[in-house]
Amino acid sequence: MDDQYALARENMIRTQLIPRGIRDPELLQVMRAIPRERFVPALLKKMAYTDGALAIGEGQTISQPYIVALMTEALALKDTDKALEIGTGSGYQAAVLAKLCESVYTVDRIKKLLERAEQILTKLGYTNIHFKVSNGTLGWREHAPYDAIIVTAGAPYIPDPLIEQLAEGGRLVIPVGNRIGQELIKITKKDGNLFEDDLGAVRFVNLIGEYGWNETSS
Ligand code: SAH
Repeated sequence: MDDQYALARENMIRTQLIPRGIRDPELLQVMRAIPRERFVPALLKKMAYTDGALAIGEGQTISQPYIVALMTEALALKDTDKALEIGTGSGYQAAVLAKLCESVYTVDRIKKLLERAEQILTKLGYTNIHFKVSNGTLGWREHAPYDAIIVTAGAPYIPDPLIEQLAEGGRLVIPVGNRIGQELIKITKKDGNLFEDDLGAVRFVNLIGEYGWNETSS
């Protein structure tokens, strides 16, 4: 395997993740191994490990490495867990999840992005990720309940279907706020009750659709 990016990956772990408090050794190991450069457009490969989000086409972005790590760590995945991701985008977040749990169901409303992500992840040998083009604010009912749900686009509020599809003991991480900025919220379902934690300010592209923003206005 060509690993001209190994040093960049190690630097990302050392300068972006560890100093900001990411501790889970398994997660760090997974992010040390996944070739993030494969998930960004060819012209941006050299920037794949920079400390920020990058454009991936269709007006969408691949999240900053630290945010991927923060959200993943908050999900506290077990290797027997089933996870749902809303907003496949580049597929990078799905790759991280798939190394830490049993299966990942990921949906995106943009077919072109979903197909590209599926192609890359298949090439990289993943067999535990399932893909669908759809409005993810409705979840993916056939495979519910999920032990973990991650929404990688900013929502005006938490979509009801996602709460319903969260398993007992499950964790949901979602940016909630306005179109420009959001708070990263973690919901835990325990004995049928919901517990909420605020993980800090973030900035995501908009979650579009029923239970999200409408497409047009900005
Ligand atoms: N997790 C991605 C980043 C996603 S960017 C990664 O690792 O690269 C946000 C994505 O959410 C975009 O691809 C956008 O198309 C998608 N999206 C926005 N609203 C959506 C909805 N209602 N259902 C599914 N996907 C949605």
